[in-house]
Formats: sequence, structure tokens, C-alpha cells
Amino acid sequence: MSETTRHNYDVVVIGAGGAGLRAAIEARQQGRKTAIISKSLFGKAHTVMAEGGAAAALGNVNANDSWQVHFRDTIRGGKFMNNPRMAELHAKEAPERILELEYWGALFDRTRDGRISQRNFGGHEYPRLAHVGDRTGLELIRTLQQRVVQLQQADAAELGHPEAMLRVFAETTVTELLTDGSGRIAGAFGYVRETGEFCVFEAPAVILATGGIGKSFKVTSNSWEYTGDGHALALRAGAALINMEFVQFHPTGMVWPPSVKGILVTESVRGDGGVLRNSEGERFMFGYVPDVFRDQYAETEEEADGWYADPANHRRPPELLPRDEVARAINNEVKEGRGSPHGGVFLDVSTRMPAEEIMRRLPSMHHQFKELADVDITAGPMEVGPTCHYVMGGVEVDADTGAARVPGLFAAGEVAGGMHGSNRLGGNSLSDLLVFGRRCGIGAARYLDGLGGDRPRPSDADVARLAEEAAAPLRRDTGENPYQLHQELQQTMNDLVGIIRRGPEMEQALEALEKLRERVATVRAEGGTAYNPGWHLALDLRNMLAVSEAVARSALAREESRGGHTRDDFPAMSAQWRRTVLAASLRGGRVELDRRPLDTLRPDLLALFDRAELTKYLTEEELPPAEGADS
Ligand code: FAD
Repeated sequence: MSETTRHNYDVVVIGAGGAGLRAAIEARQQGRKTAIISKSLFGKAHTVMAEGGAAAALGNVNANDSWQVHFRDTIRGGKFMNNPRMAELHAKEAPERILELEYWGALFDRTRDGRISQRNFGGHEYPRLAHVGDRTGLELIRTLQQRVVQLQQADAAELGHPEAMLRVFAETTVTELLTDGSGRIAGAFGYVRETGEFCVFEAPAVILATGGIGKSFKVTSNSWEYTGDGHALALRAGAALINMEFVQFHPTGMVWPPSVKGILVTESVRGDGGVLRNSEGERFMFGYVPDVFRDQYAETEEEADGWYADPANHRRPPELLPRDEVARAINNEVKEGRGSPHGGVFLDVSTRMPAEEIMRRLPSMHHQFKELADVDITAGPMEVGPTCHYVMGGVEVDADTGAARVPGLFAAGEVAGGMHGSNRLGGNSLSDLLVFGRRCGIGAARYLDGLGGDRPRPSDADVARLAEEAAAPLRRDTGENPYQLHQELQQTMNDLVGIIRRGPEMEQALEALEKLRERVATVRAEGGTAYNPGWHLALDLRNMLAVSEAVARSALAREESRGGHTRDDFPAMSAQWRRTVLAASLRGGRVELDRRPLDTLRPDLLALFDRAELTKYLTEEELPPAEGADS
């Protein structure tokens, strides 16, 4: 078996998407020797795939925008389940983070008067998404990578080596976190994908920035590396995962051909005027505006169409409802037999604007449909349907520092929970990962300050055990194929814990997961440790199982429907349930749930909402006194 190499850092950041890079930049700027570890190639992360943009209340296109309006939209989108402090910090700091990116070299699309342009997106009251065509994530990652290189060049000049303070370990997968005898983080253990070499990163502070969990579901916009590793690493290190029942099914993924099913069709298509129709040609979203949003959305096509040119005097088109609403509506249209030929609905932007304009605003979408489905979106509609896209649930963290409950562990970006409540608004992820990535970098540096000379160390015995465990699937003579087990896991989650959930089906899912757990414990991979995707998947399966169990248990426990959690057997939202956050932890190898109270909204934040709106979400005792009422 391969040797184990050792590295020593102050801060180890696991993940090189937007959250990881921003955290690492900050940790390095705080003077900490920092490693960035990434399972995929450097530059290949979900962040790079983000199309629509980053939400920030810059007010460039509509001067009425402000952090307060952004905060209000975010809380509404999350159906009042968001951690209020996170939503406040996010809304306040997002503009600064976008301007900082521009300062570091990001080239955003511009308004006519030369400011950063902003586009409309579902659930955002004003045009708010800073963007670069439909390739915003690419520019974000390019800029952050450039900043990494800039810092490395400064280190080369000052310290004689570009990697003296900041080094990237690409194609390196972390399989476990290391702790010391008292449960403090002491580093991370993993392997280099190409060579199979094991490696230990000793570090008192670890920042998780590993992104999402989509690969636990069959139809997903997520790519191969999103196996919930960070979520599972946190669980096994003793941290809790909150809100895991809230999984976002994006309303518009490709549905055909089968090989590309699930690939994202950006919300910008609807933001830029795309309309949804069923097989009868009906613009069906008008029939799906829920009461809580009734006042804010148009009731006729005429009113909806008028909004694009004159938003001040028209209400928004219902295609721009938050994602959970649109996904459920599409699901229902298909279920009731009004779907498109390949089991979706039609999304059409070709009647809204000339072909050149579509090519300019949505170049990637045009290319994607032409190449993958032979459909020209400038001439006709696309077929789209829901796809598992994002997990609102994640590591329970302190809002200000990103610290998890395990000393030395931090989390930012999609792997962290709380910020988006029960449903994330489009564009709020890119700004989230910049805001909280930076905060984690600072949080980790302050944690190190507090340690003084008392640095936790991993034990040699733990390292040896982890090497044994990692190699175990390769040593077995018998055992099942990891691909088969993955297929079954994905099918279970898709069919039984998907977009519409029912109690008995989720119980069935938990039984199936239990059986899968026994089979995964003896999974077998053929070949050696050098670039061996079968072995990699065998190791990832354990993470997907833990995450799936956290999702299924939390979803079974929450007896209401809210955001990314729809119960057929409990279709209403419950003000009582809103006050409860479900926190999953690992006890004796099993996922168990604790109930925690959701932080309350401060009076000044509560005052941003009409009392009439609050009555739809809050219990009587939480409501502010009615005007004129005796206090
Ligand atoms: P990611 O960017 O997902 O990066 C995770 C990193 O962790 C990767 O480097 C990965 O290799 C690494 N990693 C994972 N596991 C391990 C491990 N075990 N060991 C080492 N490294 C590991 N959001 C928006 O706000 N606006 C948009 O327009 C938008 N469009 C999207 C389009 C698509 C197609 C998709 C899939 C998502 C989109 N999102 C959008 C969501 C958003 O892109 C993601 O939520 C966000 O980029 C997550 O960033 P992150 O930094 O948390 O993680």
C-alpha cells in the first residue's frame, strides 16, 4: 500500500469553489499558512457552472434596492426559516464583496452608464444579479484564482517561494477529518486521485467548502464530485447538520435526451422573459400563485408582460415565483397529463426577443440546447422539468465566524446550513459564498490566535487506521460493485424522498438505506489505488448514505410543507413547525435528530414586513402588536 505524505498548515480549506477560494484568500491575508484541497481539477467546481449571477443590492438598475429589501426577499424566499443573522450579514455585505471582486479584476456586464449591470431573478423584488452573460460563475472563479496567484507572486517575492503561504492541492480527496484526544480538529486525511498516495494535512483549523449533495439523487444538475463529502465529514467529526429536509429541486432542468437529463437550464431564461406553457399551450403558472405571494404577482398575461418594460406599474410574472413554487407547479402539470412529449413542460424565450438578443444574453443556453438536444432556442421552446439542484441544509455554524460546534471546524458556502432557510433564491448562493467564505477565513484566523502554542495534533494510530479503512474496498475478495449500489441509492432518494414526499414512502426509504448501509460496508473495488474511479466511488458511497439518511430522517420528522420540503400528507405550512430547526447528528453510527428553536427576528427586522404578511408565517405570540392595540 502507498506511503502517507505529511503536510503542515495553519488552515486547511477543503474545496476550491467560490467559498473555498474566498476563505483561503482571507486566511492567507490574515497571515496564516493555508492549503486549498480540491477533489476535482483546480477551477472545476459548481461555482464555475453558475450561470445567472450573484445577488447584491447595489441598486444600479433600480435605485430603490437596499440591503433591507434584499433581506426581506431572502426571508420570504426561505419562508421565514432562515437564520436571521446570516440573512442580515449576507444582505448587508454582498455589495461590498461584489465590488471587491471587481477591484480584483472581474469584468461584469455593464449598464448604459457603465455601472455593474443587474438582472431580474425569481423572488428578487428588483433587478439584483450582477452577471457576466450566463457565465457568471466562470468569471467569479477566474477572478478568485487570479487573486490566489497574485498572493502567491507576492509570497515568491517576499519569501522566496510562491507556495510558501498558500498552496493548492488539486485532485486530492479528503476522506476523513482528524481530531485530537479532546475532540478538537487536528487536520484532514485523504488521497491523491491520480497516484492513490495517502496524505495527512496537519492543521488546527479546517474550513469545509465542499458544496452540495446532488449525486445522492438520480436526476440532478450536480456533477460527479457532489457526494456530500463535507456534510458527512462534519457529521463524523461530531458536528450537526441542520435543515437537511430542505432540498431545492430547480424547476428547469433538461429532460431530453436521457443522457443529459437534469442538466440545468438557468433561471435567467425566465428572468429575461421566458414563459412556461403546458401541452395545451396554457401559461399555467397563473394558476399556481400561492396565497402568501398573491399580492406581488400578476394575474393576467397582459399585466405580467407589462412588467418587463414597466416594473413600477405592473406586478411580476408568476414564472418568477421562488423555485420551489415553480418546480411543484411543473411537477403537477406533468402528473395531470399536460406535460411535453419527454415528460416536462415548454419554456419559450424565442417569442420574447430577437435571436441576436438571445444569443447575446443566453449564449451558453443556446449552445447547450443546440449541442445536446439539437434544439434552437432562438426559434422555439425548450422542454424542461425539475432537477435536484441545491441543498439548503448543512453544517450548523455560527453566523459571524462560520464556526461549527467542533472546535477548529468551520464551514462556508453550500455545505453550511441556515442562510437560505427552506428555499434559496437564485443568485443568493454566489453572494453567500463570498460573504461567508471571507468570514470563515477571519474566523479560522481568530481561532488560531486563541490557541496560542497549544496546537492539536493527530495521533499516528488514527492516521494508520484511516489508511486501512480507505484501502479496505480494494482488499476484499468479494463484495458488491459500487456503481450498482450508487444506482440503487439514487433511485431510492429520487422515488421516495424527492420533490413530493409521503410518510410511508420515507419510512420505506429509511429501510432501504439501512439495507444499503450493510451492503456498502462490504463494497468491493477492483484494481489498485492509482486513478481508480470505482474505488473513489466506493469511498464516496459512505458519505452519500449518511447524507441521504439525514435528509430522509429530517423529512420524515417535519410534518408540514415549506420551501424545498413538500409533504403530500401534511400540505400546509405550520407556524409552530417554523419555530423548530431539525439538527442531525451521528450517534453510534446512526443519524439522530435534535430539535432546536429557530432564532427570532429582531424587532427592527420584523418591522420590514407588513403585519398582514407576518400572520401567514408566525405564531400569534411571535407577532408584533397590531397598530392601535394596547401594549
Ligand atoms: P462548489 O463550487 O460546489 O465547490 C466545492 C469544492 O469542493 C470543489 O472544488 C470540489 O472539488 C471540492 N470537494 C468536494 N468534496 C471534496 C473532498 N472530499 N475533498 C476535497 N475537495 C472536495 N448559484 C447562484 O447564486 N447563481 C447562479 O447563477 C447559479 N447557477 C448554478 C448553475 C449550476 C449548473 C449549478 C450546479 C449551480 C448553480 N448555482 C448558482 C449554485 C452555486 O453555483 C453553488 O451553490 C455554489 O457554487 C457552491 O459553491 P461552493 O463554493 O459552496 O462549492
